[in-house]
Amino acid sequence: MGWLSREPAKLQDVSEKKSLPSGVWEKCPSCSEIVLISDLEENHLVCPTCNYHHRLPGEQRIELLIDNNTFFEWDHTLCSNDPLQSDDGRPYKDRLKNMIKKTSKYDAVITGAGLLNNRPVALGVLDFFWMGGSMGSVVGERINRMFARARRNNMPVILVSSSGGARMQEGLLSLMQMAKTSAAIALHREASLPFISIMCDPTTGGVAASFAMLGDINYAEPKSTIGFAGRRVIENIIRQKLPDNFQTAEFCFEHGVLDKIVKRQEMKEILARTLNILCEPLPKNKQKN
Ligand SMILES: [Zn+2]
Repeated sequence: MGWLSREPAKLQDVSEKKSLPSGVWEKCPSCSEIVLISDLEENHLVCPTCNYHHRLPGEQRIELLIDNNTFFEWDHTLCSNDPLQSDDGRPYKDRLKNMIKKTSKYDAVITGAGLLNNRPVALGVLDFFWMGGSMGSVVGERINRMFARARRNNMPVILVSSSGGARMQEGLLSLMQMAKTSAAIALHREASLPFISIMCDPTTGGVAASFAMLGDINYAEPKSTIGFAGRRVIENIIRQKLPDNFQTAEFCFEHGVLDKIVKRQEMKEILARTLNILCEPLPKNKQKN
């Protein structure tokens, strides 16, 4: 239950819920069905009634995609030293300290390697619950190093995004990570190694405008918000009303930005099949029947 309660914005306070023991039930924000939290967890935080995909913490994403007990994390102690001594009403240093204490993680992306249906892959997962999954210098550096290690070890890269974009507390240093991660992907491509990007809710700002949209294959979870600037900003600039489904995964798919929208429960299988097409075949004794 601990990790589910980390998303208060999604957990709406409703009158029906007040009579129910807290922490046992959840009201789906999409279909309003009351769902047992244990059922939601079993279903990888996808509503069993309407298929609404709740945001998934990074560790659960790794459990979902990587074979049991095969994930090895890289660079997890890499930590921002607050180069701009930023203070937006609360010192950035304090924000970092608080997040590290709360999550035992030093920044918003987890990178490492593991087996996906017996195939070695490098995997990066942005965690929206860590400062909105925002990209500062540590996120950019970890992603950069992940691509470098994957290249040295001849591994494909899968990168799962769930991020509001560049981290404002690190200013230009955050924006520089867009170029740095894009360059890392270009080197990976030169080595003829595949990169699959998975966009989850939300994938916006500097993350959408750099590595998230640069996959050889781009997948997304249903109904994810995907875009660069916000709807209101764009409407004000172009002085037009945008369609209701603007910046959804479905809208992006219709307009050729995505290769496929994949349900969370099917993601591992689809990734395995995609890698079987893009990579060398696994030795016979490692192939899954
Ligand atoms: Zn629902």
